[in-house]
Amino acid sequence: MGKMVIGNLKMNILSVSEREQYISNLKKELGKKEFSKTEIVVCPPFVHLESFGKNIGQKVKLGAQNMFPQREGSFTGEISPAMLKNIGCEYVILGHSERRKYFDETDKEINLKVVEALKIGLKPVVCVGETKAEKEANQILRVLTKQIKEVLAGISRTKAEQITIAYEPVWAVGTDIVPTSNEIMEAKLLIKKILISIFDKKYAGMTKILYGGSVNSKTVLEVCVDPAMDGVLIGRESLIPYEFVKIAEIINN
Ligand code: PEP
Repeated sequence: MGKMVIGNLKMNILSVSEREQYISNLKKELGKKEFSKTEIVVCPPFVHLESFGKNIGQKVKLGAQNMFPQREGSFTGEISPAMLKNIGCEYVILGHSERRKYFDETDKEINLKVVEALKIGLKPVVCVGETKAEKEANQILRVLTKQIKEVLAGISRTKAEQITIAYEPVWAVGTDIVPTSNEIMEAKLLIKKILISIFDKKYAGMTKILYGGSVNSKTVLEVCVDPAMDGVLIGRESLIPYEFVKIAEIINN
């Protein structure tokens, strides 16, 4: 299975000139490098998707950071999966911990989004992970089981290949604190078991499992390569093209 490196640019890049600078720097860093074993995906804010799609080049795929689970209609301020697909997105991040925290997104709502994304042919990157308090209370298995079972409720196993799970312990996102390789490996095994209980073994093996949370070029070996994850979801470091591409190179090699 190939690897994945996804950059979540979040609510950054405030102007056209900043965007042009970012795209130009990212293309420069990618240069002539080949990433034969790794897909590189960038998820900019909605307003930049079209320009990224037109200018970012063949080496980078496009993803969105969220969507509304309806095709079209009177949903003021929302963005539909069809819009994302038609503008060139292949991926959409769903259920990020910041959306769960600031917008009270529930697993049931995330499930509706997963269903609608798959319906239109967008590949969901579903974020799951425990909070610090849940970790301290030894609740990781319970939390991951609930989140994954609810967000994937009713999804056919034939869709398993289209889905990516990003294990993002909430306490590691944006904190510069990372779990140990062993902790990540344990979480990965738990996630695999949960996926097998939903999809069965053959299909569950097709779902990629990424790690996310304070990944940088110094931590990537420990959080991705050592625990044999299928890739990473990167926040802050994806805003620095040099670092983002360096992480992708380490994973690809
Ligand atoms: C994220 O928000 O998905 C993330 C992993 O952020 P950071 O890399 O900044 O911890």
